[in-house]
Amino acid sequence: MTAGLRELREIAARLGDVPAYVYDLAALDAHAARIRAATSGIELYYAVKANPDPAILRTLEPYVDGFEVSSGGEFDHVSALFPGKRLAFGGPGKTASDLARTPYRFHVESPRELDLLESGDVLLRVNLRTETETEGAALAMSGPFGMDPAMVAQCRARPGKARIRGVHAHLASGLDAPALTTLAEMIVGHARPGEEVCVGGGMAVDYTDPANLFDWEAYGAGLRGLGREIVRIEPGRAMTAYCGWYLTKVLDVKRVHGELFAVLTGGTHHLRTPVTKGHDQPFTVFGSGGHEEEVTLVGQLCTPKDVFARRVGAALAPGDVVAFAMAGAYAYNISHHDFLMHPKPEFHYVSGMP
Ligand SMILES: *Cc1c(COP(=O)(O)O)cnc(C)c1O
Repeated sequence: MTAGLRELREIAARLGDVPAYVYDLAALDAHAARIRAATSGIELYYAVKANPDPAILRTLEPYVDGFEVSSGGEFDHVSALFPGKRLAFGGPGKTASDLARTPYRFHVESPRELDLLESGDVLLRVNLRTETETEGAALAMSGPFGMDPAMVAQCRARPGKARIRGVHAHLASGLDAPALTTLAEMIVGHARPGEEVCVGGGMAVDYTDPANLFDWEAYGAGLRGLGREIVRIEPGRAMTAYCGWYLTKVLDVKRVHGELFAVLTGGTHHLRTPVTKGHDQPFTVFGSGGHEEEVTLVGQLCTPKDVFARRVGAALAPGDVVAFAMAGAYAYNISHHDFLMHPKPEFHYVSGMP
């Protein structure tokens, strides 16, 4: 058993009626080190919106060239933690106060935004029709984000007071290394010679199989193969998803109209990930064991949407602890904490130290 799992078991043994998040910082450190090594020669920024917890950011900081922030709030949070660290400020709908901040790079979302900037270094965010340009390979993130090629041309024709340093795109999420490399080749086609290219995040995380990790080595090689001087990536989910656990206790097990339910402390107001992504959250049970049955795991909220996992095999009894895995990204911080006024979870940070 790894040190992280041993500590998880100890926290599970002490868990009361308030659920707990456990962040395995040792596992995160090792994961980040592997990503850094696999993507040598490529600039690595972490997309803070995936999880802005200060302990997580401190663990990642030595491995990343910078942080990608998507609001004035994230900008201020990260600037206070790491003065002088490079920040890329993206996100649609920037206010005048957002545009008055001084990041290393702004990711400009429209010609109007570029006009409003009084100074600074910018990447133009391009929005490409990935469905057609990659023959159906990619899940499109088009919508209102960034600019189509005509709008990019408009920016280049009148750059105003800011300096255009290159292009940025974040076109799809949940893609494997070959598909993301194909997208990167497409994005590079919109940059001028010598310009920086930021190709975004979106590296796949497989919630049905936590062991099926994104192939960082292949992606690093693919990006180096672009032959550009400055290529930047900004992963979020695939960096921090694996380090988080959400621990909750079984309160009740009952069969309603033939369907077996386990009712757990907490709910999707703490861990909204399975609802937002439409998956069954993987989990480990610390319990008395017994015979496995098909069961639906729900929380304490008065809504039928409060489901962690549907009709999965598990042996559960009141008092058992369920540790949901892969709860380190778009988990606590994307959840609606105040709905129903249940207590907030506890937070534990384990470092694998004996
Ligand atoms: C959310 C986001 C990311 C990170 O995406 P992941 O799927 O978490 O890797 C990167 N860049 C931009 C612009 C984003 O909005």
